Amino acid sequence: MFQRILIANRGEIALRVIRACRELGVTSVVVFSEADRGASYLEEADRAICIGAGPSAESYLNIPRIIAAAEVADVQAIHPGYGFLSENPEFAEICRSCGFEFIGPSHDSIRRMGLKTEAKIVANKAKVPCVPCSDGPVDSETEAQALATKIGFPVLIKAAAGGGGKGMRVVRDAEGFLAAYRTARAEAEAAFRNPSVYLERYLDNPRHIEVQLLADQHGHVVHCWERDCTVQRRHQKLVEESPSPVVPEAVRTKICESAVRLAKAVNYHNAGTCEFLYDPATQEFFFIEVNARIQVEHPVTELVTGLDLIKWQIRIAAGEKLTLKQSEIKRHGHAIECRINCEDPGANFRPSPGTVSRMVVPGGPGVRWDSHVVAGYRVPTNYDSMVGKLLVHADTREEAIRRMSRALREIKLDGIATTIPFHRLLMQDEQFRSGEYDTTWLEREFMPRNRDRLGS
Ligand code: ADP
Repeated sequence: MFQRILIANRGEIALRVIRACRELGVTSVVVFSEADRGASYLEEADRAICIGAGPSAESYLNIPRIIAAAEVADVQAIHPGYGFLSENPEFAEICRSCGFEFIGPSHDSIRRMGLKTEAKIVANKAKVPCVPCSDGPVDSETEAQALATKIGFPVLIKAAAGGGGKGMRVVRDAEGFLAAYRTARAEAEAAFRNPSVYLERYLDNPRHIEVQLLADQHGHVVHCWERDCTVQRRHQKLVEESPSPVVPEAVRTKICESAVRLAKAVNYHNAGTCEFLYDPATQEFFFIEVNARIQVEHPVTELVTGLDLIKWQIRIAAGEKLTLKQSEIKRHGHAIECRINCEDPGANFRPSPGTVSRMVVPGGPGVRWDSHVVAGYRVPTNYDSMVGKLLVHADTREEAIRRMSRALREIKLDGIATTIPFHRLLMQDEQFRSGEYDTTWLEREFMPRNRDRLGS
């Protein structure tokens, strides 16, 4: 096992990794930027090293400074968390060539899975169903137009270098295609400095179902069941749960087995997630992408399986064998996660950084609060707006929803606008409770219906 690990991330995920290290008896060293100086989670690590100014490019995305911190602290491995450099194959490669184990998959798997079109080619070979799509980026207008017609409308134009729900455009018919294609390329260039786009069939009422994977460096791969992340706004997840309320048992097994086949096809190791879209009407599922890192919503899986995914990431990176057999990974009860963002749901989810004046942490049976926030904490403007994740676990979905409502009532995070009022309304919503909705339901129906009640 490693003696010392560097955590190249911030906020709640840095704290999550610090906690895993503490329980494993591994010394943790966390990096921080000037914008995070004085944050209380830094005290939980054994050592904290300032690597630069607030802007990510000068700190959390700055590879030379992170490597220098790893050298100074004399660590054996680097945990990238999620976001920032976690899916950057160059970073993984540089870590390893500088003698630090990268706590994640090989740079080769990250590279192959990071290119969405390449990932789909691998998926096809592994007999994992994919949405009909172009073979790769489509850079000529005539070719794109012809392909769109072949794939069939509605078509989704996706930025090849996109992510986090950004860089997508739906086109309903052939007439509007060319204009949308040009705009999509210009947007991709502006956002990702890469104009490449590819085309994919747009599914109209899908669910987002993803499978958690764990794989060691000795070829053993298991799945830890699925998460349902259908509650989304602008293709970004707001609530995740497990098990999915709509996937029948036989389909669940098929989806999970597909994810394992895909991981084996790329010699994947460490933790990862295979994402699918699912059509409840036809029970068909389609692979969309692999996230070659730990995800925000991993605790949902931890609650239903009892596994500690971060500890497994560390053990696997240290070369240990994954001692779990597939048949030993059981599901118990139901878990739900609400992402608490400092955004004003009454003002179109506008970011609302500021200082937290009061923080009352919810507790009691089956409640988990993963957050670095304390009273007096000033939310920096430089980073993502998520300030915490509220999770519950109960025997059934209905009990989990009641428990979440209770915890959302208890939590007090004052001084800044947050998504807490939104989640309170969602938990009371009849349709959410019925479990039947799709990835655009929130914006299409829930938000218009609740606009007045969320008004600030
Ligand atoms: P990102 O990498 O930006 O997160 P994903 O490919 O993972 O993008 O997709 C994010 C979300 O966008 C999905 O959960 C789904 O809601 C929507 N989406 C993506 N592809 C399609 C598609 N072909 N049809 C319908 N919705 C899609």
